[in-house]
Amino acid sequence: MKSDLVIVYHRQPYEEVIENGQVQYRENSSPNGIVPTMKGFLGQADRGAWVAWKEAEDTANPGFEPVIEISDSFGTYTVSRLPLTKEQVSSFYHVTSKEAFWPILHGFKERYNYDPVDWPTFRAVNWAFAEAAAEQATDDAVIWVHDYNLWLVPGYLRQLKPNATICFFHHTPFPGPDMFNVLPWREEIINSLMTSDSVGFHIPRYAQNFAAVVRSIKGARLVAEAETPTTLSATGVALNDRRMPLMLEHMGATTCVHTNPVGVNFDYIEELAKKPEVAERVREIREDLGETQLVLSVSRTDYTKGNIEQLEAFERLLTRRPDLRGKVRLMLVSVGANRNMTAYAEVQDAIEGLVGRINGSFGSFDWQPVTLVSKAIPLAQLVAYYRAADVASITPLADGLNLVASEFCAARDLTHPGALVLSEFAGCSVLLDGAIPVNPFSHSSMDSALDQALAMGIEEASARMAALRRSARTWDISAWTRSEMAHFRTLQRERHGAGPEVVPAA
Ligand code: UDP
Repeated sequence: MKSDLVIVYHRQPYEEVIENGQVQYRENSSPNGIVPTMKGFLGQADRGAWVAWKEAEDTANPGFEPVIEISDSFGTYTVSRLPLTKEQVSSFYHVTSKEAFWPILHGFKERYNYDPVDWPTFRAVNWAFAEAAAEQATDDAVIWVHDYNLWLVPGYLRQLKPNATICFFHHTPFPGPDMFNVLPWREEIINSLMTSDSVGFHIPRYAQNFAAVVRSIKGARLVAEAETPTTLSATGVALNDRRMPLMLEHMGATTCVHTNPVGVNFDYIEELAKKPEVAERVREIREDLGETQLVLSVSRTDYTKGNIEQLEAFERLLTRRPDLRGKVRLMLVSVGANRNMTAYAEVQDAIEGLVGRINGSFGSFDWQPVTLVSKAIPLAQLVAYYRAADVASITPLADGLNLVASEFCAARDLTHPGALVLSEFAGCSVLLDGAIPVNPFSHSSMDSALDQALAMGIEEASARMAALRRSARTWDISAWTRSEMAHFRTLQRERHGAGPEVVPAA
C-alpha cells in the first residue's frame, strides 16, 4: 500500500536490538529528539512511510528484508531500509557528507577535504534513496527529505514523482555564497534543491544565505519576503536577520523558503525535572558540590562545538582568579564521535590533553577542576545535571540550532534558575531571550561571560530564566510540528487545488 506521507531520513525510526537471537525493533526510549518528533508526523497521515539506510554485507542478499511494517505507539507505518554496503556508507556519509559538506556548512574552509570524495557514489546513493521513497509514495504524496547528505534526492524524486509535494529540511547551518560555493558540485546541489516545493531552515539567517547562494548560482529572484517576528530575533546577536525570504523564482518556477526552528519537548523535560528520582539525584550532586559552583557544558565531540575553546576559557579563569580555585568545577560532557574519523579523533585527543593539563596544574586530591564525560548520559540523568548546575556554558563556534541550551531552560525553575552562557553562533541564540551572549572567538568575551554568570544574583538570574523559559516554550517541538503541518497543507493546496488533503488539519 502506498503512503501519502513519506519521510526520508538517514537514521531508522527505532532502535534495532537482538534479543534471544531475534531482531527486535524497539521504540526510542525518550520522546525527546528528532526521530520521535518526526515519527509524530506519521500518525497524522492516512498512511505513512519512512525511508532510511541500513548497512548490509551483501545488498543482493535474499534474506535482507528491505520493507517492513512497524506498529508502535505512533501507529502502523512502513519502513523502507535501503541496503548500503559499508563502503557506500563510508563514501557517501563519512567522507562526502562529513569531510566535504560538514566543514563548509559550518564555515570551516580549512577543514574541507575534497580529495577522497567519490561523487558518482554520492549520486548513486541519493538516487537509490529517491527510488526507495518513490516506491512508497502515492503520486500526490508529501515527500519530506532531511539534511545535506540527501541533497540530490529532491531532483531525482521530481523525475520519478512529478506531482508529489517535495519538502526539504536542513538541520544544520547554511552558509552564504563565499563559503557554499567552495563546493564544486554547488550547481548540481542547488538545481536539485530548487525542484523542491519548499526548502526549510532553522532560522532566518540560514534562509537568507540560501537565497543569496541561489541568486549567485542561478540568478534566481526573491519574489516574497517578510519581516522576522520579534520572537525570532533576540537583540544584538550575530546570527540575527531582520528579514526572511519566503519565495524564490527562477525561469518561471517558484520554490518556497520556510523558516521554522526545531524545538525540544519542553513539557516532557519539565516533567522529568520534577520527578522524585531526579530531585534526589540533584540533591546528591549538590551535596557533593557543597559550596563549589558547577559549570556544565554538554555537546558532541566535534570541532564545531568549541569544546577546546571552552576548556581554554576555564583554564584562563583559574589562572586569573586564584580566589576561585577549589570553588568552581567544570563538567564537560563531550560525547565521543567516530574515532575512525581523523578530524574527530584529533579533537578528542586535544580535549583529553587539555583536561589532563588543567587538572594536573590546578587540581588536588580534594578538588578536580574538570570532569570529562565522553559517553552519552541518558536524558533523565542529564536533566539532573541541568538542574544541579550553576551555569550552563554552551559555546559552539557554529551550530545549526543547539537543543541542549533549550533543554537546560526547560529543566530549570525560577527559584533555582542558574545562568545560561550562549554562543552567538548557535542558531538558538536568536530565539532564546535572556542568555548571556558570548563570542567564542574572543577571549575577553568568553572570560567576561563566565565572570558574569558565576557572579549573577538570584533576582537577575530568575528574571533571565523567566524570559528564557518563555522563549524556549514558544519554540518547542509542538510549535515546530504545527508550523510544518500547516506549511505542507498550504503547499498541497497550491499544487493540487482544493482537493482532499494528504495531511489533514490536526
Ligand atoms: N544528549 C544526551 N546525552 C548526552 C549528550 C547529549 O542525551 O550525554 C542529547 C541532548 O539531550 C540533546 C542532543 O543530544 O537532545 C544534542 O542535540 P544538539 O542539538 O544540542 O546537538 P547535535 O548533537 O544535534 O549537534
